[in-house]
Amino acid sequence: MNNESKKEKPSFGYEKMPYRYVAYYRDGKWCDGELTTDEKVVLNESAGVLQYAQTCFEGMKVFKTKDGSIVVFRPDMNAERMCDSAMGLEMPPFPKDRFLEAVKQVVTANREYVPEYGSGAALYLRPVMFGTNAVLGVKPCEEYQFRLFASPVGPYFKGGVKPLKLKISEYDRAAPRGTGNIKAGLNYAMSMRAITEAHREGYSENVYLDPATRTKIEETGGANVIFITKDGTLVTPKSNSILPSITRKSLLYVAEHYLGMKVEHREVYLSELKDFIECGLCGTAAVIAPVASIATESGTIEFPSGEEKAGEYLTKLRETLVKIQSGDIESPQGWLVRIE
Ligand SMILES: *Cc1c(COP(=O)(O)O)cnc(C)c1O
Repeated sequence: MNNESKKEKPSFGYEKMPYRYVAYYRDGKWCDGELTTDEKVVLNESAGVLQYAQTCFEGMKVFKTKDGSIVVFRPDMNAERMCDSAMGLEMPPFPKDRFLEAVKQVVTANREYVPEYGSGAALYLRPVMFGTNAVLGVKPCEEYQFRLFASPVGPYFKGGVKPLKLKISEYDRAAPRGTGNIKAGLNYAMSMRAITEAHREGYSENVYLDPATRTKIEETGGANVIFITKDGTLVTPKSNSILPSITRKSLLYVAEHYLGMKVEHREVYLSELKDFIECGLCGTAAVIAPVASIATESGTIEFPSGEEKAGEYLTKLRETLVKIQSGDIESPQGWLVRIE
C-alpha cells in the first residue's frame, strides 16, 4: 500500500532494532534458532535467493494496550501463511510453533521499542525466509535462513485519512494458476515498474485485474480491496490469485459479528465498480486505507464517499478493528497473543 503523506515523513521504513531471531536449515532440518544483534546477512554470490528469488516473507504488528501489556495481532495466521508460501516455492516450511516462539523472543528482546498505547504506532515484525546455498542450475536450495526482525512504524495516516486515487493497471500481478496467493518477494518485484509508473501519473496504487479475462477485480500490489454496497454490505473479491489478507479476513468477521453487516466474499466485476458507495484497501500497514477513485480505461469511477475522508462504513470498520487490536474492546478468542 502507498500513501502520499509517506513522502513527507516516512512512517513505514526500516529502523534497526537491537535483536532479531535467526535459524538455519541444513542437512534436511531446521537447526535451533537464536537471537542475534547482527543485522547483516552474508551470502554466496550465487545464493538461490539472489539468482532465482527463492524467498517469502510475512508482516504483522505488535501493540501496547491501555494496561501496558504487549500484544501481537493473530501471529498464528502469519505462521500458517508463511508455511503455505514456503511450500509454494519448494522451501521447507518453518514450523508454526517455532515461528510463534521467534515472535515472542524478538518482541521480548525489543520490548522497550513497542510504541505507547494510543500513539497509533506499532512495532512491525518482518519474518523472512530465503535460499542461501550456491546454485547455478535452476533447482530448490538445500540450505535456507529464517530471520525475524522488528522495526517500529508510525501511524499510517498522519494528519488524517486522505482517500487514495487508484488506477486499473495495464500490467498483471499474478498468473491465474501462479503465485499470487503466496507472500513471495517475486510478486513484488514485478510490481515495481507498475507502481513507479502509477506514481508518475499521480496515482497512489494499482488495482490489478484477473489476468485471464481482465474483467474482475483482484487486489493492489500489497493490499486486498474491499467495497461497500448501497445497502451496506461488505464485499471482498474472491480469486485463487489474491493473497489471503489476514486483515481482510478479520474485517469480514468484524463486519458480521461486531457490526451486524452482511458480508460477501465473491468475484467482483470491473463493471460493478460504479455501484459501490465506498472502497478501501486493507492490510497490516493501514488496516483500511480509503479509496476516493479508480481510473479505468473507460473513465474514472469516483466513489460517493468522496475525496476528503473515509466513508462511514469503512470508518466504523477500521475503528472497530483498531480497538480490538489495542485491547479497547473484547477481541475474538485467540486474536491477541500477549507477550509476558
Ligand atoms: C501482505 C499482503 C496483503 C495484506 O495482507 P495482511 O495479512 O492483511 O497484511 C495483501 N496483498 C498482498 C499482495 C500482500 O502481500
